[in-house]
Amino acid sequence: MAEKIDCVVVGAGVVGLACARALALAGREVVVLEAAGAIGTGTSSRNSEVIHAGIYYAPGSLKAVSCVNGRQLLYRYCTEHGVAHRRCGKLIVATKAAQIATLHSIQAHAAANGVDDLRLLTAEEVHALEPALRCVAALLSPSTGIIDSHALMLSYQGEAEDHGAMLALHSPVTGGAVQTGGIMLEVGGAEPMQLLARTVVNSAGLYAQRVAASLRGFPPDKVPGSYYAKGNYYSLNGRSPFSHLIYPVPEAAGLGVHLTLDLGGQARFGPDVEWITELDYDVDLRRADGFYRAIRDYWPGLRDGQLAPGYAGIRPKLGGAEKPASDFMIQGPAEHGVPGLINLFGIESPGLTASLALARLVAQTALST
Ligand SMILES: Cc1cc2nc3c(=O)[nH]c(=O)nc-3n(C[C@H](O)[C@H](O)[C@H](O)COP(=O)(O)OP(=O)(O)OC[C@H]3O[C@@H](n4cnc5c(N)ncnc54)[C@H](O)[C@@H]3O)c2cc1C
Repeated sequence: MAEKIDCVVVGAGVVGLACARALALAGREVVVLEAAGAIGTGTSSRNSEVIHAGIYYAPGSLKAVSCVNGRQLLYRYCTEHGVAHRRCGKLIVATKAAQIATLHSIQAHAAANGVDDLRLLTAEEVHALEPALRCVAALLSPSTGIIDSHALMLSYQGEAEDHGAMLALHSPVTGGAVQTGGIMLEVGGAEPMQLLARTVVNSAGLYAQRVAASLRGFPPDKVPGSYYAKGNYYSLNGRSPFSHLIYPVPEAAGLGVHLTLDLGGQARFGPDVEWITELDYDVDLRRADGFYRAIRDYWPGLRDGQLAPGYAGIRPKLGGAEKPASDFMIQGPAEHGVPGLINLFGIESPGLTASLALARLVAQTALST
């Protein structure tokens, strides 16, 4: 006999935990099923931990709206719940006069997203803030920050559990079937079981398409394509010469080799963009030369031997290298026709920043079905 549950969230990354918290706060009975032996071992622990302002996304897109709303919710949440973070600000740097026009268009684009606090700085103003930086002008984004993402996940988990949610680790969803009255989930692990859930939130990150496709009765044509864009990081040996996050003017495929900081002041560079077909987290050592070249464009003081291979994360993309940037996809019954199922697809950056806003949308969808 299958056990009956009100809501199941598949995946205990930052977005899954935020959804579990929102559903538990709304009074729903929630079980989180996580394949791994701990929370947040997927993309949620392989990112830059930046609280993004919401500058680059297409105006009106779910990425833009959930980033701007999510960022405001996240700063408030961190303050109220004691989650470590710092509003350190970021500089988008033009190293050639020809790029100043791009800074103007970035500023206008950001304003269209409701990010209206960007300030264009002259080379002298930048020099006063960051003497080691070489540039002809820069945009300052004062509302960009950094966060301890693991502390955030623990906080979401704690609040969800305080409101009755349960977390089951080592509990991979291996398949399931759409039935009248709910979705029957097959759960593997040491003690395999079946759970009949009225609502299922599929927040399995890089595996979300696989989970959706494994549900018998789910229309296969509603499973979007799955593409992987790996981001390699190199860390800086020694002290960071910068106190702001430093981004070059963006390139076609990504944000360029940028510098981010953790709360301990350690600097790392990346992520770059490497399209892959199999999940693999090894940092490609041959990419170091490209990192040195790109960084020295804005930081000529970088010495040989100062970069060490760091870690890698993988962006769950909905389109391949040649396709325009895809949006986040929250796919509910209105889109796929299966009552009670909400799929989260393509939750790449800024998913950490947007986690509270995405969870709000998921909870609204769950409560209206
Ligand atoms: C290189 C990189 C840099 C980034 N930088 C930033 C940043 O600076 N700021 C920002 O806002 N965002 C950033 N992001 C995006 C952010 O990290 C993600 O959007 C966010 O972590 C996604 O969380 P998630 O919960 O959806 O997925 P995940 O963290 O991947 O969690 C999914 C979970 O599902 C589990 N799972 C998978 N399959 C199953 C199954 N069958 N059964 C049960 N459990 C399953 C996995 O084990 C995993 O724990 C970055 C992403 C990348 C790749």
